[in-house]
Formats: sequence, C-alpha cells, structure tokens
Amino acid sequence: MKRRTFIRNLTSGLALAVTGLWMTPQTLFAATQEKIRVWSKKAKGFIMTEKIHKTDQQWREILSEEQFHVARKKGTERAFSGQYDKHYEAGVYRCVCCEQDLFDSEHKFDSGTGWPSYYQPIAKENVAVEEDRSWFMLRTEVLCSRCDAHLGHIFNDGPKPTGLRYCINSASLKFTEG
Ligand code: FE
Repeated sequence: MKRRTFIRNLTSGLALAVTGLWMTPQTLFAATQEKIRVWSKKAKGFIMTEKIHKTDQQWREILSEEQFHVARKKGTERAFSGQYDKHYEAGVYRCVCCEQDLFDSEHKFDSGTGWPSYYQPIAKENVAVEEDRSWFMLRTEVLCSRCDAHLGHIFNDGPKPTGLRYCINSASLKFTEG
C-alpha cells in the first residue's frame, strides 16, 4: 500500500470509529427519551416537545433575579407582591422559563392568599409533582414538566370541581392573552 493511500484509509477509519462511538444506542435512546407529550392551547391538542435543560448561567441570562430565585431555586415570592395575584384577563399562563402552557384563566380563582390560584393545571401532562419536605412540612410541589421550573405547591382546600388549590408564584409565570 502506498503511504498516501495508507494515510487516507487511516483517516476515514478514524472518522468512522468516532461516528460509531457518537451514535451508540445509548446516545440515540438518550436523545429520544427527552421527548414529552403535552397539551398546547394554540394547537388545541397534544403535541410532542423536547425537555429543556440549561445551566444556572443560561437561566440567569433570560430571567430576572426574582424569577431565577423562585423558578430555578424553589423560592417563594412575598404574598400579594406578584403581578398575577389579582389578574383576571382571559388567556394562558405559561412557564416563564420555557413558555410551556401551564394554567388557563378559566381555572383561576381568588383564594385570598396573595398568590395566583388555580383549581387545576391546563393539562395534567404539563406539570409534574414532587413531595416537598422542606420547612418541617409535607407539601406537594408543582413543577413545569418541560423544564422542571418550580411553580408552587398544591393544597386540598380548593373549590369545586377538583377541591385542589394550585398556589403558584407569579414570578414563574408569563401571561398571554387569548
Ligand atoms: Fe418550563
């Protein structure tokens, strides 16, 4: 084999090996398992979307200090301080981090607690729930199912038809009309 041919073969061999390593079944699976099925008000149906993962630095670039503290660090805004507590226009409350639809104005009610309250999410697929044992209490935390943003907590003292109260921070939401 000529020296030049040998080098060419070696180069393409290396390229194939690298591609082979990159496209392992594991990486393919990791890429596909990140898809989730959620409700979209605009599409009037379920859509497939990708999970969102960002570093704290990347979140800081698109969020205010308070939005970052509440949505990414599980903070709580002061009662009666949020912009959506007494907000009753018709529309959708989306995730401040990833813009996924989270709550519909139809399901909003005045709980008197100082935080925007809903008796259900826009669809159960659009939120995730987790047990929260911080502050010596057992509470149910509610998060965005797409980007894991902290939204607030769920309590059992809500109105009909669910009897639930989704107590949500305005800082985790972004309202859009319609
Ligand atoms: Fe989100």
